Amino acid sequence: MLRSQALRSRISGLLVAVLLGLICFSQIALAAPKSIDLAELDWQYRWDDGQNMDIPSDTLKDEGWQSIEFPANPPERNGRTQVWFRTVLPAVTMSEPVIYVTSIDINVEAFVGEKQIYLFGEFDDEGNGSFMGWPWHVMPLPDDFAGKPLYLKVYSDYTQIGLWGETKIQDRADMLLDVVTSGLHELVVAAFSLLIAFIAFVFAVFRGTRREFFYLGLFSLATAGTLIGENLAMQLLISWPLLKTYLAAISYFAMPVFIAMLLYYWVDDAKGGRLLKAIAILHQVYLIAVVLLSVTGVINLATAYPLFDFLFVISLLLMLTVTLRVSRQMNIVRQLVVGAFGLYAIILLADMLIAHGLIPWVNFPLAYGGLIFSLVLVVVSIRNYIQTYTELEALNQTLEQRVVQRTTQLNDYVKAEKDRRISLERQNLFASKLERFNTKLQSCNCLAEASDLFRDKLAHVFSPAMVEVSMDGQEMDDLPDGQLRLQGLKGSSHVFASLRLERAAPMLPKQDAEEMIRRASQRLAVTLGNIKLREDLQRYSFEDSLTGLRNRRFFDDALSRDIQLAEREQTALSLLICDIDHFKRFNDEYGHEAGDVALQSVAAKLKQQFRQSDIPCRLGGEEFVVLMREASLDDARVKAEKLLEAIAENHIDYDNEKLGPLTVSAGVASWRGDEPDAEALLRKADKALYKAKQTGRNCVVVFEADKPFDAAL
Ligand code: GH3
Ligand code: MG
Ligand code: MG
Repeated sequence: MLRSQALRSRISGLLVAVLLGLICFSQIALAAPKSIDLAELDWQYRWDDGQNMDIPSDTLKDEGWQSIEFPANPPERNGRTQVWFRTVLPAVTMSEPVIYVTSIDINVEAFVGEKQIYLFGEFDDEGNGSFMGWPWHVMPLPDDFAGKPLYLKVYSDYTQIGLWGETKIQDRADMLLDVVTSGLHELVVAAFSLLIAFIAFVFAVFRGTRREFFYLGLFSLATAGTLIGENLAMQLLISWPLLKTYLAAISYFAMPVFIAMLLYYWVDDAKGGRLLKAIAILHQVYLIAVVLLSVTGVINLATAYPLFDFLFVISLLLMLTVTLRVSRQMNIVRQLVVGAFGLYAIILLADMLIAHGLIPWVNFPLAYGGLIFSLVLVVVSIRNYIQTYTELEALNQTLEQRVVQRTTQLNDYVKAEKDRRISLERQNLFASKLERFNTKLQSCNCLAEASDLFRDKLAHVFSPAMVEVSMDGQEMDDLPDGQLRLQGLKGSSHVFASLRLERAAPMLPKQDAEEMIRRASQRLAVTLGNIKLREDLQRYSFEDSLTGLRNRRFFDDALSRDIQLAEREQTALSLLICDIDHFKRFNDEYGHEAGDVALQSVAAKLKQQFRQSDIPCRLGGEEFVVLMREASLDDARVKAEKLLEAIAENHIDYDNEKLGPLTVSAGVASWRGDEPDAEALLRKADKALYKAKQTGRNCVVVFEADKPFDAAL
């Protein structure tokens, strides 16, 4: 933005400086040297019909001469092409006086007295000539010209006939200086127009799509061409007046084409754009036709001017109307362009009026008109260019920002997708590992086996996250989701295992790892619950719920199994059966609840008194049995006696009271190998117990086969 502002101010500064320079230069140039204006002399004219061709001896006769203000366009022309003008030359004090004429339509022969002093163009036998261009003319005067008549024989098939512009007697040096200075400032303007054309073409190349720069360039080129073609000083360098005239004519005729095309880019088709295009095409056709016809000699180039000027006036008025009509809807910049065009159009119109003698000749700033128009267009176009460039730059920046934004978003999205994919893959892997682990867990027979599996394999399920699996059964408040709790059948619960996240993996965030732990805990807890239930059910089916001893069912199985083992291994096997004495009384005295406590107390003594391999069971009611593997009858008796002692010494704590002590009676029998079945051994022990009761209770009776035991019963 700053850069474009600086550029803009630099360009406008440069243009202002150039304009000021041109204006100053023109002021210096306009300071004309001393001279005598021929227009102030008394002039006469005389139409000629081609008879007075030679030295104007005949024409010197006074017949047919009439007065005229200025030696141009005498009245009653009636299609005539030859005319004489004359005046008397005044005396001057100049070192080398010459007659200077800006332009003559179109061929001229000049005489002082009878002496030819100048000839431009050719005169055939009938006094006719052909167009040779429009140069300025300088006619050298002989030494004795003062008081002598000046004759000008003029041929013209053009609308104008005679002299045009400045006509003066001047010192040759002054005249040359005049020509050079007045021409120079036009040359500077022409050079400037060329520069503008060059800049415009450069812009046209870089802008590509927009042609206004192209037409601006062509217009500036045409302006430069007109200026160079009509330039006075150029005649000193190039001596082909016709070439110069062609350059000026082509440039001049091309101007409306480029002006119309230029304006065409500012005006919509519907609002006159089409008309502007039509004007451009018309003038283009005219230009091509004139060049072709004049080069091939079909027409005289000079004769193309009046029709062109007529068309140009109409075109200018139409273009002015169109642009003025739409100017109200234009922005300030385009209004400026239209204003500049308006000024230029007025200058062009005035120039044409002067050229056709409709208004008196003045040194008119036509060059400046074109220059101002070009400059305004250049400034506007450059401004447009800078504006577009700035907008494009801003747009580019916005686009770049958006691209960066979108790329970032896209990258984020891709990364998120990648993360999601990795997370999904990991979850799948985790799910399948968890399932495999769970299947293994389901095949565990007991919690102890499950515990080993947990310890050895569970941590791998969470890989790459590191999870510590602890089986110490400790309660941990900070692991609400990571503790596997097992419910007992009687409502109790305990922690089976604790899972603690030690370290999350690089691509596995902490919350995901914790979620994995939570899922695993939930899933495995169900399986563990089943194992525990299975285990519990199994245990409860063989356990007496009041005392925790094995029950009758277990005892029956164990007895037949152990008998088979004893038989096979030839080992001893003894059986002790005991019954609490007068337990009914105890119950009656202290209540059933106290009775239960007493049963538990006796059971505890049973557990204490026997080896690990001995199996105490509750047969039912207040009756207990102990299966003693590898124990002889004697061993069994001793054990039984010790048991009785221990029970007899034991008080039962109930309701802060010490009850009892209770006593038990016991019967002991050993496997001898001759019993038919397990029931038989039990019956023997039972018989011994019965006897103990009979004997007086709180005693041990051993079943001995050789004693008449049965008889006693
Ligand atoms: P004896 O010395 O002849 O064995 O006399 P006793 O009273 O112990 O024998 P009896 O067979 O007459 O009574 C057994 C009692 O044991 C009856 C019953 O109320 C009690 N009993 C059996 N099972 C339980 C039990 O689970 N809890 C309680 N509190 N009492 C029980
Ligand atoms: Mg009993
Ligand atoms: Mg009893």
